[in-house]
Amino acid sequence: KMADETLKAQLGNAAWKLFHTILARYPDKPSKQEQATLKQYINLFAQVYPCGDCARHFRKLLNKYPPQTSSRKNAALWGCDIHNKVNTRLNKPIYDCTNILEDYDCGCGEDEKEADF
Ligand code: FAD
Repeated sequence: KMADETLKAQLGNAAWKLFHTILARYPDKPSKQEQATLKQYINLFAQVYPCGDCARHFRKLLNKYPPQTSSRKNAALWGCDIHNKVNTRLNKPIYDCTNILEDYDCGCGEDEKEADF
């Protein structure tokens, strides 16, 4: 069996990848419903995340830094910032958020600019 730390890191990698990709595909001009959906998704993610310790810390961060859902750019930058807060706590380097939208390309095609929220 792989070491627990390796498995936890792989889970984190996969989770962050999905997290940032969802935010990078969020609408530029979200409706109230789309904003509510994203907030719910993030709060539920923080409840079901399988590493209990991670989830507990992340819920505290969410209370302090609530999801920004007013636009794609704001949502993606918020996600980058909160991941950086986790990085800081784990003594990992701070990520440069300048090109966050380009960094997380879903590979789902030019004609589908937005996820179907
Ligand atoms: P990761 O942090 O997994 O990042 C993956 C890749 O994303 C990086 O290689 C980089 O290319 C990119 N990236 C890095 N920072 C950013 C950013 N700010 N914005 C966008 N992209 C970025 N582990 C613990 O040990 N304790 C915890 O309490 C803990 N809490 C977590 C909470 C959550 C919600 C999640 C999703 C994960 C948590 N983890 C925790 C796991 C931890 O964050 C890392 O995923 C894991 O340590 C592997 O780190 P990594 O160096 O491979 O990079």
